[in-house]
Amino acid sequence: MGAEGVLDNLKVIVIGAGMGGLTAGIALKQAGYQVEVYDRVRELRPAGAGISLWSNGVKVLNRLGLGQAIANIGGQMNRMAYYDMHGELLTGFSLQPLIDTVGQRPYPVARTDLQGMLLNAFGADDVRLNFRCVGVEQDENSVTAIFEDGSTATGDVLVAADGTHSFLRSYVLGETLERQYAGYVNWNGLVSISEDLAPADSWVLYVGEHKRASLMPVGSDQFYFFLDVPLPKGTVSSPDTYQEELFSFFKGWAAPVQTLIQRLDPTKTNRIEIHDVPPLQTLVKGRVALLGDAGHSTTPDLGQGGCQALEDALVLTTYLQTTNLSVEDALQRYEAARKDRVADIVTRARKRSDVTHGKDAAKTQEWYEELKTEDGSNIMGAISRTILAGPLG
Ligand SMILES: Cc1cc2nc3c(=O)[nH]c(=O)nc-3n(C[C@H](O)[C@H](O)[C@H](O)COP(=O)(O)OP(=O)(O)OC[C@H]3O[C@@H](n4cnc5c(N)ncnc54)[C@H](O)[C@@H]3O)c2cc1C
Repeated sequence: MGAEGVLDNLKVIVIGAGMGGLTAGIALKQAGYQVEVYDRVRELRPAGAGISLWSNGVKVLNRLGLGQAIANIGGQMNRMAYYDMHGELLTGFSLQPLIDTVGQRPYPVARTDLQGMLLNAFGADDVRLNFRCVGVEQDENSVTAIFEDGSTATGDVLVAADGTHSFLRSYVLGETLERQYAGYVNWNGLVSISEDLAPADSWVLYVGEHKRASLMPVGSDQFYFFLDVPLPKGTVSSPDTYQEELFSFFKGWAAPVQTLIQRLDPTKTNRIEIHDVPPLQTLVKGRVALLGDAGHSTTPDLGQGGCQALEDALVLTTYLQTTNLSVEDALQRYEAARKDRVADIVTRARKRSDVTHGKDAAKTQEWYEELKTEDGSNIMGAISRTILAGPLG
């Protein structure tokens, strides 16, 4: 640590090279800190096919000088539409009022492109692979990550960005929290853009029977698709039968949904049982800060999990840069700034998930009816309030 208590010359150990860990690495490097990122895998491959970076996430990337880079790989999502399962339009509208309200367009993006962009910005050679963190020790001067092979890394701060199954969450909380099943399975992947699926510049969703089918344009002429089906936990499935199962779950649905199931490549389709973790009471312990899904594992129903990881990265770096009492104090300020924000996202996403996926069938039916009278203002109002409540407004 440098003169007069300012937190300069810090060395930061980041565990996890997902979008949270890499964005933290970029922000911390830009702040002038020495950063080492470690991941347990031998080869980095993103989980999932696509992701919607809402404007709050994009604003963080803009702040880090990556605005043009994300614009280059992001899809042009200008409109949004909901259809019922038979293909009747429920509501369709331009997203321009949302963009005007928040000051930045969202970018749906293929996950491999996003990971490539972040790795490029951080420096792929600086990510140390095949290092599984199995322990942490800290005292008043430093913090040390212990890896499976017995090696260690010591620094001033440890960023725990080890994802939804975080082992470091248990270290910070002093207890292990179980992830909770949200009651539905999500298949997702990429397909080539074509007008018989959806307009090339639109996010299109089909809803009915507590299920959803969605198509969203990411860059490189592809749609990111997902199909949601409420199912008991542990339902057996395999890529060989994905299409057969999906044809049966979506029997009688509109032609574009049938075409989507026909065209998807099951060997490149992900199937995930959706879980979350109830909001955490604490995000830090001494010199260790939880970041991304490690600190707030949410259902994807607001499309905000990754965006919150980007917000975390910016806020954590900002407190280390701008306060000068101690690392522990800066981390406490990070926790105070982030705890309610991320708890709100986790809670609201779970509520949204319940309505969408028929936890109470009457409420889901009410939502389907509401969509028929929606002109876009309620949907865009809710999205813009979430965006504007972020650290960059
Ligand atoms: C179906 C689905 C759709 C989603 N859609 C959206 C969306 O539209 N918009 C959005 O913003 N978010 C979305 N999300 C959420 C988003 O994917 C996550 O919030 C985000 O990927 C979390 O990033 P992370 O860096 O925290 O964790 P991860 O990306 O999971 O990275 C964690 C990393 O830590 C490593 N690791 C784990 N344990 C150890 C260890 N012990 N030692 C070393 N390394 C370790 C892992 O190998 C991994 O690389 C979605 C999620 C799902 C499941």
